[in-house]
Amino acid sequence: MSSKKLYSWGRYPERPQEGHACYWRSDLSDLFNGLAVEYGSTLPYGNGRSYGDSCLSDSGHALHMRPLNRFIKTDWERGILIAEAGVTLAEILAISIPQGWFLSVTPGTQFATLGGAIANDVHGKNHHLRGTFGNHVLRFALLRHNEPELICSTSENEELYAASIGGLGLTGLISWAEIQLMPIRTSHIDSTLVRFGGLTDFFELSTELDHQHEYSVAWIDCLAKGANTGRGVFIVGDHAKFGHLEVDQRSKLTIPVTPPVSLINNVSLRPFNELYWRMHPAQRTRQRSSYDPFFYPLDRILHWNRIYGRKGFQQYQCVIPDHVAEAAVRELLRGISDSGQGSFLAVLKRCGDISSPGLLSFPLPGTSLALDFPQKSSLDRRLFPRLDAIVREAGGRLYPAKDAHMSGSDFRKAYPAWEKLEALRDPTLNSCFWKRVTK
Ligand SMILES: Cc1cc2nc3c(=O)[nH]c(=O)nc-3n(C[C@H](O)[C@H](O)[C@H](O)COP(=O)(O)OP(=O)(O)OC[C@H]3O[C@@H](n4cnc5c(N)ncnc54)[C@H](O)[C@@H]3O)c2cc1C
Repeated sequence: MSSKKLYSWGRYPERPQEGHACYWRSDLSDLFNGLAVEYGSTLPYGNGRSYGDSCLSDSGHALHMRPLNRFIKTDWERGILIAEAGVTLAEILAISIPQGWFLSVTPGTQFATLGGAIANDVHGKNHHLRGTFGNHVLRFALLRHNEPELICSTSENEELYAASIGGLGLTGLISWAEIQLMPIRTSHIDSTLVRFGGLTDFFELSTELDHQHEYSVAWIDCLAKGANTGRGVFIVGDHAKFGHLEVDQRSKLTIPVTPPVSLINNVSLRPFNELYWRMHPAQRTRQRSSYDPFFYPLDRILHWNRIYGRKGFQQYQCVIPDHVAEAAVRELLRGISDSGQGSFLAVLKRCGDISSPGLLSFPLPGTSLALDFPQKSSLDRRLFPRLDAIVREAGGRLYPAKDAHMSGSDFRKAYPAWEKLEALRDPTLNSCFWKRVTK
């Protein structure tokens, strides 16, 4: 057994974890039982791409699943893949793209693991057409404390299947999973970009374009005020029909050290947002790119989270039901621009109505807004309470994978199935997040 310090992506709250790595599936049960006995509880940890405290074990001792990174079986006729849970999405793409298959659903990072993608039931730019990652999980093996490994699917151990998709690592350790991939003809994406002047335009563009394209997302300037509120750049894309099937292997940059203070601040944000908006032409422009910059622009810079300095940062991601989405998102943006605390990454995305098999899945038919803020105490004292009140009033909810502040009452109201998950939780698994929102 080897151990190293593990963190969440936002580095807030600061709860470094002692990571206990598992290299062989045959060792998993003994390692799990040993940690449960020695520390009272533990939590599976994938690759730490969750921002807040949902990937942090309550005991401070996490079971590091990432080294379980072997492929078990592939069927390139049907696009079905079985792999250990620590395999990353990038590793899956590296073998599936040359065979003409892509992930049916991918989040904005390819460094999430298979287990982490299931446990947060992640979503991507095609939620309106394909639902969440969980919609494409055929079965997986789940290991609970002092029990033999269980196979979970829609026809075997169905309750645990549903509870583990979006189950935040609390129902057991996923040791391997079988997923359905999506056929592609090339590894390129044909995209169309169009700059828009305000929030109403975003909703009009989304209504017009979402169902014509596999992928759809918008970046917005969250500091723009008045008539410019919600201005941004709308991006739709599809897998190109002609071209090569190539794995993108461009080299990555890296942020080598964590500066003492955040390099993202209001001095840098306002001109960045203005420039980014102006850089894009008002007419629709078409471009072809590799899949990598289209889906994973941030992955180009390794350790980019370090630019937020030693205090780290928080992401605020909520989803607002369709019927009140425009009004509530406008209110949220007003609250953010009044506070003067901008985000250089503000993403708007319409979610569709395909329901997930997962009990605690985040998306609902509506609009999701996600923003990153450098950590400071005024976030939790002033800005987030104001935003939370708008989300609550609108009947929306926050995303546990990104969260480090949600109140227990907001969580329990927004995720009424939490009690079912609690009933199925393995008592030796617990996270800082779960303790915070359920106790
Ligand atoms: C740049 C960036 C962009 C992102 N974009 C999106 C996006 O578009 N959509 C989206 O939905 N999310 C997005 N995310 C969030 C990220 O995809 C999720 O947090 C994902 O779950 C992280 O996976 P991980 O392997 O790093 O897991 P971790 O963060 O380490 O853990 C996540 C959860 O999975 C559980 N877990 C991990 N492994 C296992 C296992 N083997 N068995 C059981 N439980 C396990 C953990 O206990 C924890 O609860 C983004 C994150 C980043 C950094």
